[in-house]
Amino acid sequence: MKMPDLEPTPSLDFIRARVMEDIKAGKNGGRVHTRFPPEPNGYLHIGHAKSICLNFGVAAENDGLCNLRFDDTNPSKESVEYEESIQRDVRWLGFDWADRMFYASDYAEKLYEYAVLLIKDGKAYVDSLSADEIREYRGTLTEPGKESPYRNRSVQENLDLFERMRAGEFEDGAHVLRAKIDMSSGNINMRDPVLFRIMNVPHYRQGSKWVIYPMYDYAHPISDALEGITHSLCTLEFEDHRPLYDWCLENLPVAARPEQIEFARLNLSYTVLSKRKLLTLVTEKIVRGWDDPRMPTLSGLRRRGYTPEAIRNFCEAIGVAKRDAIVDVAQLEFAIRDDLNKRSPRVMAVLRPLRVVLENYPEGQAEELDAVNNPEDASAGTRKVPFSRVLYIEQDDFRENPPKQFFRLAPGREVRLRYAYFITCKEVVKDASGNTVELRCTYDPATRGGDAPAGRPSPKATLHWVSASHAVPAEVRLYDRLFNEERPDNDSPINPNSLEILDSCCVEPSLKAAKPLDRFQFERQGYFCVDPDTTDEKIVFNRTVTLRDTWAKIEKSLKK
Ligand code: ATP
Ligand code: MG
Repeated sequence: MKMPDLEPTPSLDFIRARVMEDIKAGKNGGRVHTRFPPEPNGYLHIGHAKSICLNFGVAAENDGLCNLRFDDTNPSKESVEYEESIQRDVRWLGFDWADRMFYASDYAEKLYEYAVLLIKDGKAYVDSLSADEIREYRGTLTEPGKESPYRNRSVQENLDLFERMRAGEFEDGAHVLRAKIDMSSGNINMRDPVLFRIMNVPHYRQGSKWVIYPMYDYAHPISDALEGITHSLCTLEFEDHRPLYDWCLENLPVAARPEQIEFARLNLSYTVLSKRKLLTLVTEKIVRGWDDPRMPTLSGLRRRGYTPEAIRNFCEAIGVAKRDAIVDVAQLEFAIRDDLNKRSPRVMAVLRPLRVVLENYPEGQAEELDAVNNPEDASAGTRKVPFSRVLYIEQDDFRENPPKQFFRLAPGREVRLRYAYFITCKEVVKDASGNTVELRCTYDPATRGGDAPAGRPSPKATLHWVSASHAVPAEVRLYDRLFNEERPDNDSPINPNSLEILDSCCVEPSLKAAKPLDRFQFERQGYFCVDPDTTDEKIVFNRTVTLRDTWAKIEKSLKK
């Protein structure tokens, strides 16, 4: 059913407004066609998600199309592993490129042909300066560049050398093909940029078919044009490259005229989104891999328990702007909490168990109590939780000498066990070194289900618990921010406390059937997700996020 359109149209971000103008003006026949162009040289991260949501989103909202295009033009860093992970992650995020998956490397012949045209037009030449010399000749922001002594080679000589570059006659770096534009341009990108270089490196898809590879600034506009892209959305660092993007299209007989529009990349506090740094974390084994749940990669976030919906909501909430800014990582955590609150079943799990014996509960007896699966979702129903004489509660929920604001269990005090009974602590049992190892308690049979009989005051605290003989053993991995610095750089050390492993946790028996990636709320503790390391002997959980933003609290108290 179509709902009446009562809501005012939300204001469009500058890219969507621009696309809308182009449609209204009949540009490209009203067509909208975007692309997401990852280089298969690493796994996708949350910054890429912003670009994916934008490119696929703008296309979908305007009955357009979005291509997935691998920008695989630097064989030294690319691999099929990366390519496959990218496909998996884009699909997982919820986007579909249908039959439009392309590779810049498949355009090699066309890119070569076009380069020959530029040479014939006197707009490109083979330069034989070394890489260092080219850099030296390029000048600086304040000084113009110098023309290469090879700049005025004849068309014939250039054609001959370029052909021999392709034929593999030269070592890496012996020659490059450069555009002949303007060595005194105020824009360094226009100072005769390199178009092709020699790389005697096999390509993961093309094998050793090619030993010359195009530069991104040359391959990108042409790939866009060949695919009929209308709006080529990229991040701000390419703004100064736009004149070169346009130069390529103006000087070649391409059928389409895509337009490059730049937007601000996503920067997240306490997070590194540089592929180079992420790769170092993986290769130096500082994390377990690209999908380590502490990594800001989509595969890490998935393993951590993030949902595609939460990531898409986050990308929508942060919006698209023209200025760089830093987004607080708490906003990402808010998005996953908000989503999991609605959808995840509640269960009881004790992470640091303290044994409780109910002295007046018959030995060998057990009963089943009703527990609500999700108070946010009545259709989720209820389940049975077993109760018996020996239970586990959280060590943190007991204090022998409770401070003033501590309302949980203490000697002589009564608390409610969730869905079960009120219990009172009668005696504290300690080991030889004085550690509390067991509490002797009594329960009140009149409080079954956890309700106070009429006229009886309710305890101030409600604790979660697990029946000892029914408990399922579990390992729980608690994660904290990977970096302690708000704006970490490539040299920042990781937070040494970013992973804490608790290996003697007890969870309620309903979790026995949990499968990898299933998500739960552990009552009073946070959201948790089953890790693929789970075996028949032991369930492994990752903490996705705590129930509340404890960092906001910590930061507040530090400011006081
Ligand atoms: P590099 O070029 O160093 O390998 P990259 O992050 O640019 O790294 P690509 O695979 O080229 O990696 O990125 C694919 C697309 O994702 C590009 O269009 C890029 O602009 C976009 N992108 C990358 N990082 C971010 C980010 N942090 N925020 C938004 N978009 C991003
Ligand atoms: Mg890139």
